[in-house]
Amino acid sequence: MEKHYDLWIAGAGYAGAVAARALAEKGRRVLVLERRDHIGGNAYDCLDGAGVLIHKYGPHIFHTNDKKVFDWLSRFTQWRNYQHRVVANIPDPEGGGKPGWRLQYPVPFNLTSLETAFGAEEGRRLGDKLVAAYGAEKKVTILELRQNPDPEIAALADYVYEHVFVRYTMKQWGQKPEDIDPNTTARVPVFLSRDDRYFQDAYQGMPLEGYTKMFQRMLDHPNIEVRLNTDVGQYLALEEYDIRRRETREPLGCPLIYTGPLDEFFNLRYGRLPYRTLDFQFETWQDRDYSAPHAPYPDHPLRGGDFYQTHTTVNYTMDEEFTRITEFKRLTGQDLPGVTTIVKEYARAYTGAEGEIPYYAVINPENNALYARYKAEADKKKDLHLLGRLAEYKYYNMDAIAARALELAERL
Ligand code: UDP
Repeated sequence: MEKHYDLWIAGAGYAGAVAARALAEKGRRVLVLERRDHIGGNAYDCLDGAGVLIHKYGPHIFHTNDKKVFDWLSRFTQWRNYQHRVVANIPDPEGGGKPGWRLQYPVPFNLTSLETAFGAEEGRRLGDKLVAAYGAEKKVTILELRQNPDPEIAALADYVYEHVFVRYTMKQWGQKPEDIDPNTTARVPVFLSRDDRYFQDAYQGMPLEGYTKMFQRMLDHPNIEVRLNTDVGQYLALEEYDIRRRETREPLGCPLIYTGPLDEFFNLRYGRLPYRTLDFQFETWQDRDYSAPHAPYPDHPLRGGDFYQTHTTVNYTMDEEFTRITEFKRLTGQDLPGVTTIVKEYARAYTGAEGEIPYYAVINPENNALYARYKAEADKKKDLHLLGRLAEYKYYNMDAIAARALELAERL
Protein backbone atom coordinates (compact mmCIF):
# COMPACT_ATOMS: atom_id res chain seq x y z
CA MET A 1 0.00 0.00 0.00
CA GLU A 2 2.86 2.37 0.81
CA LYS A 3 5.18 0.95 -1.83
CA HIS A 4 5.80 4.35 -3.35
CA TYR A 5 7.94 5.34 -0.38
CA ASP A 6 11.55 4.24 -0.21
CA LEU A 7 11.78 4.79 3.51
CA TRP A 8 9.75 5.52 6.60
CA ILE A 9 10.86 7.66 9.47
CA ALA A 10 9.12 7.53 12.84
CA GLY A 11 9.46 10.93 14.50
CA ALA A 12 9.77 14.48 13.15
CA GLY A 13 12.22 15.85 15.73
CA TYR A 14 15.90 16.61 15.14
CA ALA A 15 16.77 13.03 14.26
CA GLY A 16 13.82 12.38 11.96
CA ALA A 17 13.66 15.74 10.23
CA VAL A 18 17.38 16.01 9.47
CA ALA A 19 17.49 12.42 8.18
CA ALA A 20 14.35 12.99 6.09
CA ARG A 21 15.76 16.05 4.36
CA ALA A 22 19.18 14.54 3.75
CA LEU A 23 17.62 11.40 2.23
CA ALA A 24 15.06 13.36 0.20
CA GLU A 25 17.88 15.32 -1.37
CA LYS A 26 19.44 12.04 -2.45
CA GLY A 27 16.26 11.24 -4.33
CA ARG A 28 14.68 8.95 -1.74
CA ARG A 29 10.94 9.28 -1.19
CA VAL A 30 10.38 9.57 2.54
CA LEU A 31 7.29 9.20 4.68
CA VAL A 32 7.61 10.82 8.11
CA LEU A 33 5.19 9.58 10.77
CA GLU A 34 4.82 11.83 13.79
CA ARG A 35 2.77 10.89 16.82
CA ARG A 36 2.31 14.50 17.98
CA ASP A 37 0.27 17.16 16.22
CA HIS A 38 3.38 19.14 15.31
CA ILE A 39 6.90 18.74 13.94
CA GLY A 40 10.17 19.67 15.66
CA GLY A 41 10.08 17.15 18.51
CA ASN A 42 11.10 18.62 21.84
CA ALA A 43 12.72 21.61 20.12
CA TYR A 44 9.25 22.76 19.00
CA ASP A 45 8.51 26.40 19.76
CA CYS A 46 5.29 28.39 19.44
CA LEU A 47 3.60 31.58 20.63
CA ASP A 48 1.79 31.37 23.96
CA GLY A 49 -1.43 33.22 24.85
CA ALA A 50 0.51 36.41 25.58
CA GLY A 51 2.36 36.29 22.26
CA VAL A 52 5.64 35.16 23.78
CA LEU A 53 7.66 32.66 21.74
CA ILE A 54 8.12 29.73 24.11
CA HIS A 55 9.82 26.34 23.95
CA LYS A 56 6.97 24.04 24.88
CA TYR A 57 9.28 21.19 25.94
CA GLY A 58 11.91 23.21 27.76
CA PRO A 59 14.69 25.56 26.71
CA HIS A 60 16.85 24.58 23.74
CA ILE A 61 20.06 26.50 23.06
CA PHE A 62 21.91 25.61 19.91
CA HIS A 63 25.69 25.31 20.13
CA THR A 64 28.25 23.29 18.21
CA ASN A 65 31.86 23.00 17.14
CA ASP A 66 30.79 21.01 14.10
CA LYS A 67 30.98 23.38 11.15
CA LYS A 68 29.37 20.85 8.84
CA VAL A 69 26.26 20.61 11.03
CA PHE A 70 26.10 24.35 11.54
CA ASP A 71 26.36 25.05 7.80
CA TRP A 72 23.81 22.39 7.00
CA LEU A 73 21.23 23.76 9.47
CA SER A 74 21.99 27.29 8.28
CA ARG A 75 20.34 26.41 4.98
CA PHE A 76 17.02 26.41 6.84
CA THR A 77 17.44 29.29 9.24
CA GLN A 78 19.34 32.44 9.96
CA TRP A 79 20.70 32.79 13.46
CA ARG A 80 20.30 35.25 16.25
CA ASN A 81 23.74 35.79 17.73
CA TYR A 82 23.24 34.59 21.28
CA GLN A 83 25.67 33.48 23.97
CA HIS A 84 24.03 31.54 26.78
CA ARG A 85 24.79 32.62 30.34
CA VAL A 86 23.48 30.91 33.45
CA VAL A 87 23.73 31.82 37.12
CA ALA A 88 23.21 29.81 40.27
CA ASN A 89 20.83 31.54 42.66
CA ILE A 90 21.46 30.66 46.31
CA PRO A 91 20.56 32.10 49.72
CA ASP A 92 23.02 34.85 50.68
CA PRO A 93 24.81 33.62 53.83
CA GLU A 94 24.87 37.22 55.09
CA GLY A 95 21.10 37.51 54.82
CA GLY A 96 20.34 35.25 57.76
CA GLY A 97 17.73 33.40 55.72
CA LYS A 98 15.70 36.51 54.85
CA PRO A 99 13.67 35.77 51.72
CA GLY A 100 14.99 38.55 49.47
CA TRP A 101 18.64 37.92 50.28
CA ARG A 102 20.04 35.90 47.44
CA LEU A 103 23.41 35.58 45.80
CA GLN A 104 24.01 34.88 42.13
CA TYR A 105 27.15 33.68 40.44
CA PRO A 106 28.05 32.21 37.06
CA VAL A 107 27.55 28.52 36.29
CA PRO A 108 29.77 26.77 35.26
CA PHE A 109 31.39 27.85 38.52
CA ASN A 110 34.36 30.01 37.44
CA LEU A 111 36.89 32.55 38.70
CA THR A 112 34.17 35.19 38.98
CA SER A 113 31.96 32.79 40.95
CA LEU A 114 34.85 32.22 43.34
CA GLU A 115 35.08 35.94 44.09
CA THR A 116 31.35 36.27 44.63
CA ALA A 117 31.34 33.29 46.96
CA PHE A 118 34.49 34.07 48.98
CA GLY A 119 35.04 37.80 48.51
CA ALA A 120 37.36 39.47 46.00
CA GLU A 121 40.65 38.92 47.77
CA GLU A 122 40.15 35.38 49.03
CA GLY A 123 38.45 34.42 45.78
CA ARG A 124 41.41 35.62 43.76
CA ARG A 125 43.86 33.77 45.97
CA LEU A 126 41.91 30.53 45.61
CA GLY A 127 41.57 31.12 41.88
CA ASP A 128 45.34 31.52 41.54
CA LYS A 129 45.83 28.30 43.43
CA LEU A 130 43.45 26.41 41.14
CA VAL A 131 45.08 27.85 38.04
CA ALA A 132 48.50 26.82 39.38
CA ALA A 133 47.19 23.29 39.94
CA TYR A 134 45.26 22.77 36.68
CA GLY A 135 46.21 25.56 34.26
CA ALA A 136 44.46 28.71 33.07
CA GLU A 137 41.23 28.29 31.07
CA LYS A 138 41.07 24.61 32.05
CA LYS A 139 37.81 22.79 32.73
CA VAL A 140 37.83 20.43 35.69
CA THR A 141 34.88 18.22 36.54
CA ILE A 142 33.49 18.42 40.05
CA LEU A 143 34.22 14.74 40.65
CA GLU A 144 37.82 15.27 39.56
CA LEU A 145 38.21 18.37 41.73
CA ARG A 146 36.98 16.44 44.76
CA GLN A 147 39.87 14.01 44.32
CA ASN A 148 42.45 16.73 44.85
CA PRO A 149 44.55 15.90 47.96
CA ASP A 150 45.32 19.56 48.78
CA PRO A 151 43.07 20.31 51.79
CA GLU A 152 42.28 23.84 50.60
CA ILE A 153 41.30 22.70 47.10
CA ALA A 154 39.34 19.80 48.60
CA ALA A 155 37.43 22.25 50.81
CA LEU A 156 36.73 24.42 47.79
CA ALA A 157 35.54 21.37 45.83
CA ASP A 158 33.20 20.57 48.72
CA TYR A 159 31.85 24.11 48.60
CA VAL A 160 31.06 23.83 44.88
CA TYR A 161 29.64 20.35 45.33
CA GLU A 162 27.34 21.56 48.13
CA HIS A 163 26.32 24.85 46.54
CA VAL A 164 26.05 23.96 42.86
CA PHE A 165 25.80 20.23 42.30
CA VAL A 166 24.34 18.05 44.99
CA ARG A 167 20.83 19.43 45.37
CA TYR A 168 20.35 20.31 41.72
CA THR A 169 21.42 16.80 40.75
CA MET A 170 19.15 15.25 43.40
CA LYS A 171 16.24 17.22 41.94
CA GLN A 172 17.14 16.40 38.35
CA TRP A 173 18.07 12.73 38.73
CA GLY A 174 16.94 11.64 42.20
CA GLN A 175 20.57 10.63 42.82
CA LYS A 176 23.80 12.19 43.99
CA PRO A 177 26.42 13.42 41.50
CA GLU A 178 28.76 10.51 42.31
CA ASP A 179 25.98 7.99 41.58
CA ILE A 180 25.02 9.18 38.10
CA ASP A 181 26.94 8.87 34.84
CA PRO A 182 30.08 11.03 35.30
CA ASN A 183 29.62 12.44 31.79
CA THR A 184 26.47 14.17 33.00
CA THR A 185 28.06 16.43 35.62
CA ALA A 186 31.08 16.77 33.31
CA ARG A 187 28.77 18.79 31.03
CA VAL A 188 29.03 21.59 33.62
CA PRO A 189 32.63 21.58 34.86
CA VAL A 190 34.42 24.06 37.11
CA PHE A 191 35.94 26.50 34.62
CA LEU A 192 39.20 28.27 35.50
CA SER A 193 38.33 31.30 33.45
CA ARG A 194 36.58 34.67 33.44
CA ASP A 195 34.51 33.51 30.48
CA ASP A 196 31.05 33.28 32.05
CA ARG A 197 29.31 31.69 29.06
CA TYR A 198 27.62 28.32 29.54
CA PHE A 199 29.12 26.99 26.30
CA GLN A 200 32.40 27.82 24.59
CA ASP A 201 31.49 26.32 21.22
CA ALA A 202 32.54 28.09 18.02
CA TYR A 203 28.97 28.31 16.73
CA GLN A 204 26.21 29.33 19.07
CA GLY A 205 22.86 30.94 18.46
CA MET A 206 19.10 30.76 18.26
CA PRO A 207 17.18 30.16 15.03
CA LEU A 208 16.10 33.69 14.11
CA GLU A 209 12.44 32.80 13.58
CA GLY A 210 12.43 29.84 15.94
CA TYR A 211 13.03 26.11 15.71
CA THR A 212 9.62 25.25 14.29
CA LYS A 213 10.19 27.52 11.26
CA MET A 214 13.57 25.88 10.72
CA PHE A 215 11.99 22.42 10.75
CA GLN A 216 9.15 23.55 8.46
CA ARG A 217 11.67 24.59 5.83
CA MET A 218 13.69 21.42 6.35
CA LEU A 219 10.68 19.18 5.79
CA ASP A 220 9.36 21.20 2.87
CA HIS A 221 10.63 19.04 0.02
CA PRO A 222 8.79 17.25 -2.81
CA ASN A 223 10.21 13.89 -1.69
CA ILE A 224 8.95 14.24 1.90
CA GLU A 225 5.46 13.60 3.18
CA VAL A 226 4.75 14.23 6.86
CA ARG A 227 1.79 12.63 8.62
CA LEU A 228 1.04 14.13 12.01
CA ASN A 229 -1.02 12.45 14.76
CA THR A 230 0.23 9.12 13.47
CA ASP A 231 1.81 6.57 15.75
CA VAL A 232 4.15 4.31 13.84
CA GLY A 233 2.80 1.23 15.67
CA GLN A 234 -0.80 1.96 14.73
CA TYR A 235 0.31 2.88 11.29
CA LEU A 236 2.07 -0.39 10.65
CA ALA A 237 -1.08 -2.20 11.70
CA LEU A 238 -3.44 0.08 9.81
CA GLU A 239 -1.50 -0.21 6.64
CA GLU A 240 -1.64 -3.97 6.87
CA TYR A 241 1.99 -4.35 7.69
CA ASP A 242 1.05 -6.71 10.48
CA ILE A 243 2.24 -5.18 13.75
CA ARG A 244 3.36 -8.65 14.83
CA ARG A 245 6.10 -8.51 12.25
CA ARG A 246 7.91 -6.31 14.76
CA GLU A 247 8.08 -9.33 17.03
CA THR A 248 9.66 -11.52 14.40
CA ARG A 249 12.79 -11.47 12.32
CA GLU A 250 10.82 -10.56 9.24
CA PRO A 251 11.72 -7.35 7.51
CA LEU A 252 9.35 -4.46 8.10
CA GLY A 253 8.43 -4.23 4.48
CA CYS A 254 10.14 -0.90 4.06
CA PRO A 255 13.29 0.47 5.73
CA LEU A 256 12.41 2.36 8.87
CA ILE A 257 14.35 4.96 10.83
CA TYR A 258 12.91 4.85 14.31
CA THR A 259 13.53 7.76 16.69
CA GLY A 260 11.24 6.82 19.60
CA PRO A 261 11.95 4.82 22.77
CA LEU A 262 13.25 1.36 21.87
CA ASP A 263 11.40 -0.45 24.67
CA GLU A 264 8.08 0.74 23.22
CA PHE A 265 9.01 -0.57 19.81
CA PHE A 266 9.19 -4.05 21.30
CA ASN A 267 6.08 -3.59 23.44
CA LEU A 268 8.17 -3.37 26.66
CA ARG A 269 9.08 -7.04 26.28
CA TYR A 270 11.98 -6.83 28.73
CA GLY A 271 10.48 -4.09 30.90
CA ARG A 272 10.67 -0.32 30.78
CA LEU A 273 13.84 1.58 30.06
CA PRO A 274 14.20 4.21 32.80
CA TYR A 275 13.94 7.86 31.79
CA ARG A 276 13.47 11.15 33.61
CA THR A 277 10.49 13.25 32.68
CA LEU A 278 9.84 16.93 33.38
CA ASP A 279 6.81 18.89 34.48
CA PHE A 280 6.92 22.40 33.10
CA GLN A 281 5.23 25.25 34.90
CA PHE A 282 4.85 28.22 32.56
CA GLU A 283 4.08 31.61 34.07
CA THR A 284 3.29 34.79 32.19
CA TRP A 285 4.01 38.03 34.00
CA GLN A 286 2.66 41.46 33.06
CA ASP A 287 4.49 44.57 34.24
CA ARG A 288 1.69 45.33 36.70
CA ASP A 289 2.21 42.12 38.67
CA TYR A 290 5.95 42.19 38.96
CA SER A 291 6.50 41.30 42.55
CA ALA A 292 9.50 39.37 41.23
CA PRO A 293 9.49 36.55 43.78
CA HIS A 294 12.74 35.21 42.44
CA ALA A 295 14.52 38.49 41.99
CA PRO A 296 17.86 38.37 43.80
CA TYR A 297 17.04 41.40 45.95
CA PRO A 298 13.77 43.10 46.96
CA ASP A 299 14.83 46.24 45.10
CA HIS A 300 15.71 44.29 41.98
CA PRO A 301 16.61 46.75 39.20
CA LEU A 302 14.34 45.06 36.70
CA ARG A 303 11.30 45.18 38.92
CA GLY A 304 8.45 46.76 37.00
CA GLY A 305 10.44 46.41 33.78
CA ASP A 306 10.24 44.03 30.89
CA PHE A 307 12.08 41.08 32.37
CA TYR A 308 11.50 38.66 35.21
CA GLN A 309 15.09 37.77 35.99
CA THR A 310 18.65 38.86 35.23
CA HIS A 311 19.65 35.94 33.00
CA THR A 312 18.00 33.63 30.50
CA THR A 313 18.40 30.74 32.90
CA VAL A 314 18.71 30.88 36.67
CA ASN A 315 19.54 27.58 38.39
CA TYR A 316 18.19 27.02 41.91
CA THR A 317 21.00 24.92 43.23
CA MET A 318 20.29 25.13 46.98
CA ASP A 319 16.53 25.32 47.41
CA GLU A 320 13.15 25.25 45.64
CA GLU A 321 11.58 22.14 44.14
CA PHE A 322 12.27 23.15 40.54
CA THR A 323 15.75 22.98 39.07
CA ARG A 324 15.78 26.17 37.02
CA ILE A 325 13.80 29.08 35.65
CA THR A 326 14.23 30.11 32.02
CA GLU A 327 12.92 33.38 30.59
CA PHE A 328 12.19 33.01 26.90
CA LYS A 329 12.45 36.64 25.80
CA ARG A 330 16.07 36.70 26.93
CA LEU A 331 16.72 33.66 24.78
CA THR A 332 14.85 34.64 21.65
CA GLY A 333 15.39 38.40 21.80
CA GLN A 334 11.69 38.92 21.18
CA ASP A 335 10.76 42.57 21.65
CA LEU A 336 7.60 42.52 23.75
CA PRO A 337 7.42 45.30 26.35
CA GLY A 338 5.68 44.76 29.67
CA VAL A 339 5.07 41.04 29.36
CA THR A 340 7.26 38.01 29.75
CA THR A 341 6.89 34.23 30.09
CA ILE A 342 9.10 32.00 32.17
CA VAL A 343 9.20 28.26 32.76
CA LYS A 344 10.07 26.31 35.89
CA GLU A 345 11.28 22.73 35.44
CA TYR A 346 10.41 19.92 37.84
CA ALA A 347 12.07 16.57 37.15
CA ARG A 348 10.77 13.15 38.18
CA ALA A 349 10.87 9.51 37.12
CA TYR A 350 9.10 8.71 33.87
CA THR A 351 6.38 6.12 34.38
CA GLY A 352 4.99 5.83 30.87
CA ALA A 353 1.64 7.29 31.94
CA GLU A 354 -0.49 8.94 29.26
CA GLY A 355 0.89 12.35 28.34
CA GLU A 356 4.26 11.89 30.05
CA ILE A 357 7.32 12.50 27.93
CA PRO A 358 10.69 10.76 28.37
CA TYR A 359 13.33 13.50 28.19
CA TYR A 360 16.53 12.04 29.61
CA ALA A 361 17.86 8.48 29.51
CA VAL A 362 19.06 7.41 32.96
CA ILE A 363 22.45 6.16 31.88
CA ASN A 364 24.08 3.58 34.16
CA PRO A 365 25.46 0.05 33.70
CA GLU A 366 22.20 -1.68 34.64
CA ASN A 367 20.05 0.41 32.30
CA ASN A 368 22.60 0.18 29.52
CA ALA A 369 22.44 -3.62 29.85
CA LEU A 370 18.65 -3.51 29.52
CA TYR A 371 19.01 -1.27 26.49
CA ALA A 372 21.51 -3.72 25.01
CA ARG A 373 18.88 -6.49 25.15
CA TYR A 374 16.48 -4.37 23.11
CA LYS A 375 19.27 -3.32 20.79
CA ALA A 376 20.11 -6.95 20.10
CA GLU A 377 16.51 -7.47 18.97
CA ALA A 378 16.66 -4.38 16.78
CA ASP A 379 19.93 -5.52 15.21
CA LYS A 380 18.20 -8.66 13.94
CA LYS A 381 16.07 -6.50 11.67
CA LYS A 382 18.17 -5.50 8.77
CA ASP A 383 16.06 -2.56 7.70
CA LEU A 384 15.46 -1.00 11.11
CA HIS A 385 17.70 1.95 11.98
CA LEU A 386 17.75 3.56 15.43
CA LEU A 387 18.45 7.25 15.66
CA GLY A 388 18.43 9.90 18.39
CA ARG A 389 18.26 10.44 22.12
CA LEU A 390 15.38 8.02 22.74
CA ALA A 391 16.12 5.26 20.25
CA GLU A 392 19.83 5.17 21.10
CA TYR A 393 19.36 5.78 24.85
CA LYS A 394 21.97 8.56 24.88
CA TYR A 395 22.31 12.10 26.22
CA TYR A 396 22.78 13.74 22.81
CA ASN A 397 22.80 17.47 22.26
CA MET A 398 20.96 18.81 19.24
CA ASP A 399 24.08 19.14 17.10
CA ALA A 400 25.18 15.58 17.86
CA ILE A 401 21.80 14.21 16.77
CA ALA A 402 21.95 16.24 13.57
CA ALA A 403 25.45 14.90 12.88
CA ARG A 404 24.29 11.30 13.46
CA ALA A 405 21.27 11.82 11.21
CA LEU A 406 23.47 13.15 8.39
CA GLU A 407 25.85 10.20 8.80
CA LEU A 408 23.01 7.69 8.72
CA ALA A 409 21.51 9.30 5.61
CA GLU A 410 24.91 9.07 3.96
CA ARG A 411 25.23 5.40 4.88
CA LEU A 412 21.77 4.55 3.57
N1 UDP B 1 24.24 20.44 37.21
C1 UDP B 1 24.19 20.80 38.54
N2 UDP B 1 24.02 22.11 38.88
C2 UDP B 1 23.88 23.08 37.94
C3 UDP B 1 23.92 22.72 36.58
C4 UDP B 1 24.09 21.38 36.24
O1 UDP B 1 24.30 19.95 39.41
O2 UDP B 1 23.71 24.25 38.30
C5 UDP B 1 24.45 19.02 36.87
C6 UDP B 1 23.14 18.25 36.96
O3 UDP B 1 23.43 16.93 37.35
C7 UDP B 1 22.66 18.30 35.52
C8 UDP B 1 23.96 18.14 34.76
O4 UDP B 1 24.91 18.89 35.55
O5 UDP B 1 21.73 17.30 35.23
C9 UDP B 1 23.96 18.61 33.34
O6 UDP B 1 23.49 19.95 33.26
P1 UDP B 1 22.97 20.58 31.88
O7 UDP B 1 22.71 22.02 32.11
O8 UDP B 1 23.90 20.20 30.80
O9 UDP B 1 21.58 19.82 31.68
P2 UDP B 1 20.45 19.99 30.54
O10 UDP B 1 20.44 21.42 30.11
O11 UDP B 1 20.81 19.02 29.47
O12 UDP B 1 19.20 19.59 31.28
